[in-house]
Amino acid sequence: MKRGAHYDIAVIGAGASGLLAAISAAQIGPGLRIVIVEKNSEPAKKLYATGNGRCNYMNRFVKPEDFRSAGTEGVPPHAKSLFSGSSAEKMIRFLRELGIEPREEEDGRLYPRSNQAADVVRALLTAVGNAGIEIVCGFDVREISQIEDSCKILSAERDYLYARRVVIATGGKAGIQYGCTGDGYKLAASFGHSVIKPIPALTQLVTRDDISMMVGARVRARIKLLGVMGYGSRLAAEDSGEVQFTRDSLSGICTFNVSRFLRYEEGVSYRAELDLMEEYSDQSVEELLTHRRAGFRNEPVPMLLTGLVPDRVASYISSRAGAKPGRLCASLESSDIKRIARLLKTLSFDITGTKSWKDAQVTCGGVSLSEVDPQSFASARSKYLYLAGELLDVDARCGGFNLSFAFASGMAAGMAAARSL
Ligand SMILES: Cc1cc2nc3c(=O)[nH]c(=O)nc-3n(C[C@H](O)[C@H](O)[C@H](O)COP(=O)(O)OP(=O)(O)OC[C@H]3O[C@@H](n4cnc5c(N)ncnc54)[C@H](O)[C@@H]3O)c2cc1C
Repeated sequence: MKRGAHYDIAVIGAGASGLLAAISAAQIGPGLRIVIVEKNSEPAKKLYATGNGRCNYMNRFVKPEDFRSAGTEGVPPHAKSLFSGSSAEKMIRFLRELGIEPREEEDGRLYPRSNQAADVVRALLTAVGNAGIEIVCGFDVREISQIEDSCKILSAERDYLYARRVVIATGGKAGIQYGCTGDGYKLAASFGHSVIKPIPALTQLVTRDDISMMVGARVRARIKLLGVMGYGSRLAAEDSGEVQFTRDSLSGICTFNVSRFLRYEEGVSYRAELDLMEEYSDQSVEELLTHRRAGFRNEPVPMLLTGLVPDRVASYISSRAGAKPGRLCASLESSDIKRIARLLKTLSFDITGTKSWKDAQVTCGGVSLSEVDPQSFASARSKYLYLAGELLDVDARCGGFNLSFAFASGMAAGMAAARSL
């Protein structure tokens, strides 16, 4: 790119939404001069890491109700416009045309057949190349200013270009190691957009309890996140699945899914409760343990939980129940059995917060939806500007929904930008 070059459309950010915006714009207007500028030295750095390197790029059953917004009550209108009717099928077809052949896993999660995120990137970059779209890497956008009938886009190195339309697709703040440091919020704010405070989501819950003896253990559980105020508590969110214990946090997909509901509010502390025997009633757990006590009478207390939970979790629970090491099951009173049963049904941890942006998979919060058109993703603040992807105040649980939104909103923004010219 020559310094000061002129383009019809400039897309800021070569991530999921930016690449789709550029590809879609080129399909609408084949002769348009389109450039993607990216601050990293290579495009799509985050995409390689998605889905543990396999890229869960969409969900076949995606629907508007899968999405939330921190600043808007109910289903975000932007998700309604993108995912109503048969739009998911259309998007899957569109991506197949680009060479992304789906393989479906549980709950409609779509991965590339090869199971390699790199192949999703390769297909998108091939489409970018075929459409004659230019990608300029190492271009860290710091400022967008309107000059007559176009925008001047200035980089940190004082390089610049002009474009008649600009799509900001810089992502949020999640995964800072992939280049997402919230730059898009500042760029949007410079046009008068407001930003709903971004917080890390789809991430671990950090506990102050010493759980070091359970490191590496995995359990099936129902997790409840409770906001505690004084003597009362309210359910913030709940989910079921596999919970993993790290040195200082609870991890696993169901934990990630509830993390966005942890708000740092004055006077509210948080507690996570795990039900390790979800299909059993309180009473049936107690009866089960009472029955097992006879069979394991000459064994240490953790053995009472053999086959119910992993050994490390059994040791932790028996220590939380106050059983001294070496104590035998035969010595357990009914009150001890009750206490252990209660811990299996409600193993609670004080939660001090979530992990930071480096560990978060998505951002909750972002550019306010009230200032972005739900059909075209055009800015209500400037006719030159479009916004797409995680930058916006939309997020979803794990399962391919966040990339679905990034791709679909990128497509909508790119097409609308091209049509406006
Ligand atoms: C580890 C990890 C795994 C994930 N796995 C999944 C998954 O399997 N399925 C799923 O649905 N979602 C997943 N997500 C979430 C998903 O990747 C994001 O929601 C999605 O990538 C957002 O797309 P985007 O285009 O809005 O932003 P991004 O993909 O983050 O792209 C934004 C791009 O803009 C660039 N940029 C930022 N600022 C500037 C600037 N000032 N100038 C120029 N360029 C800039 C960035 O470098 C980046 O390349 C995962 C996230 C992480 C971190």
